[in-house]
Amino acid sequence: MAMEAAIIAHGAGCNFLAFLAYLKPEEDVKMFFSAGLGGLVLYFLPSIIGRNKRNAGAIFLLNFFLGWTVVGWIVAMVWACSENPPVHYVPVAPGGLFCTACGHPAAGPARFCASCGRVLY
Ligand SMILES: [Zn+2]
Repeated sequence: MAMEAAIIAHGAGCNFLAFLAYLKPEEDVKMFFSAGLGGLVLYFLPSIIGRNKRNAGAIFLLNFFLGWTVVGWIVAMVWACSENPPVHYVPVAPGGLFCTACGHPAAGPARFCASCGRVLY
């Protein structure tokens, strides 16, 4: 079975998989990959939590590049859990209000932006 997996992996051009399958019994290979996936999820947890944030891209970059330093990971996590910057309707022309998040014009006094759905403060 390990041999078959090695051949399949080799056929797919993944020499690393073939190498693992040759060296270790199948169960160990499964363990290796499930542990790796769990570690990956844990490593990118700040990005997963902050994926709907306005700064989701910046949180991901911090997580990706500095997550391996524990401090970078903690900063990304705190950032991901923090509040979004407040969103307002701002007047830019007489009689016209615009959402600061998406620029959609406001329709009268509103608690939520009609376009992006963000809570207005
Ligand atoms: Zn908006």
